[in-house]
Amino acid sequence: MHANVALKMEDENTEAESVTVLLVDDQPVIGLIVRKMLSSDANIVFHECNDAIAAIEQARACCPTVILQDLDMPGANGLDLVMAYRSIPELRNIPIIVLSSNDEPAMKKAAFAIGANDYLVKLPEPIELMARVRYHSRSYMALLQRDNAYRALHESQTKLRQSNMELQRLTNSDGLTGLANRRYFDTHIAQAWTTSRQDASVLSLLMIDVDYFKLYNDTFGHLAGDDALQRVARAVQAAMVEPMSLAARFGGEEFAVVLPLIGADEACVVAERVRRSVEALNIPHPSVAGVGVTVSIGVATMTATAATRSTDLIAAADARLYCAKYDGRNRVVGAD
Ligand code: GH3
Ligand code: MG
Ligand code: MG
Repeated sequence: MHANVALKMEDENTEAESVTVLLVDDQPVIGLIVRKMLSSDANIVFHECNDAIAAIEQARACCPTVILQDLDMPGANGLDLVMAYRSIPELRNIPIIVLSSNDEPAMKKAAFAIGANDYLVKLPEPIELMARVRYHSRSYMALLQRDNAYRALHESQTKLRQSNMELQRLTNSDGLTGLANRRYFDTHIAQAWTTSRQDASVLSLLMIDVDYFKLYNDTFGHLAGDDALQRVARAVQAAMVEPMSLAARFGGEEFAVVLPLIGADEACVVAERVRRSVEALNIPHPSVAGVGVTVSIGVATMTATAATRSTDLIAAADARLYCAKYDGRNRVVGAD
């Protein structure tokens, strides 16, 4: 919207009364008379243009709330001008009152057909001119206000949608690693379990635990520990190529990966890829010289049934994780 129109609309109390008239007529005397007719209302701002060629530019500059348009002007046909206003976005909706000495119905018909809003034969009664000018100006301002309100509503809806999405993302992700958090993991595995039961499809789970991480923290401090956890999380995520997989922070220095439709053997391949990716980070660890931060991984695969629950799958993967620890760490255990 043009800045001047916005200004006009700023004050709610005067907006309905704020009228800007542009008279486009080649005869200065008509300008004089119309100006006088409208001068009794201090809220009417009056502009005049005697040159048809300059009318569009002047309309753009003064932002009228109503245009009084003569039809018979040297150098231009008034009807062409009406069409020109209608083809310019910022002028398109400005009400046009044709002010013509031509009383012919055919001319009136032509004017209305190309988009004039009203037709007055020169020269109308001042009271009639004033009433029509106010009426058209008011309906134009109401239109602008409605458009503004729609625009503001649309903007606030878009912002709300964006913040809801951001909130959703924050609610579901872990603050330190950016992976899915435990809350999201719980919901996700419950859904995956339901799907497994409905489709009689396999579901695999990796439980991943960082080896000797307490010692890492005790040696390098918790901030360095946080940094290492972030790097491990990134490596776990990067190792996920299975389209429906979900990597989550299960808690502390433990991660979990849900693998729908992935059988036991394939799940062990994924787990081995994760284990090697973490090892390849070569994050120095104080335990054994030459060996960096590593993870142990337990792998379990089940097809959900009425008699089993998703916690059974978690418990099975956890038991194998314990075996991996017991067997010496930095390894994958996928069978008892
Ligand atoms: P294991 O190989 O048997 O898993 O040994 P571990 O030392 O990793 O296991 P333990 O359960 O004894 O210690 C886990 C450590 O992980 C202790 C805790 O301080 C650390 N830890 C858990 N969450 C975080 C975290 O968010 N940041 C940091 N820096 N450390 C964490
Ligand atoms: Mg642990
Ligand atoms: Mg550990």
